[in-house]
This record gives sequence, structure tokens and C-alpha cells, in this order.
Amino acid sequence: MANYQICDFCGELSERTSKNMCPSCEKMYRKLRSIVEANPDTMVLDLSNQTGISVSRIVSFANKGFFIMTEGTIEIRKQHLRP
Ligand SMILES: [Zn+2]
Repeated sequence: MANYQICDFCGELSERTSKNMCPSCEKMYRKLRSIVEANPDTMVLDLSNQTGISVSRIVSFANKGFFIMTEGTIEIRKQHLRP
């Protein structure tokens, strides 16, 4: 199992990464992040509609500490802000 991991978000087996996140979830995370960066006040429901990513998946990113949820919107956690 050394080079593999179970993704924390979808349960798929993938090559190990630093985040325990498979490439397809990483892609979703980056997509969400780019929208949140450009429009910090976007509601989670609107993000879901714009990206096709389910609200529960967005909430699971927030629960794992990738975003901070406040009153229906999400913010990017500072420690994940990197190029
Ligand atoms: Zn995944």
C-alpha cells in the first residue's frame, strides 16, 4: 500500500499524494478554489450549480479543512493558499 491511498473524498484508490486526495477530487478542489478566489461571496449552492460538484462534496472539502464554511459561503484556508 506504500504508493497508494484511499481518497478521503470519494473513496477511490489512487497514487499517493500529499493531501490524500485523488486526481479527480484534486481537480474539483482546484475548480472550486479558483471560483472562490475570484468571487469570495459565492454561495455553496451556486458553486455547486456552476461546477456540477455536489454540495455534500463541497461540505466534505470544508470538513477536511480545505475551506472554511460561513453562513452558506466558503473561504479558502490560508495554509492551502499556495501557487
Ligand atoms: Zn477522490
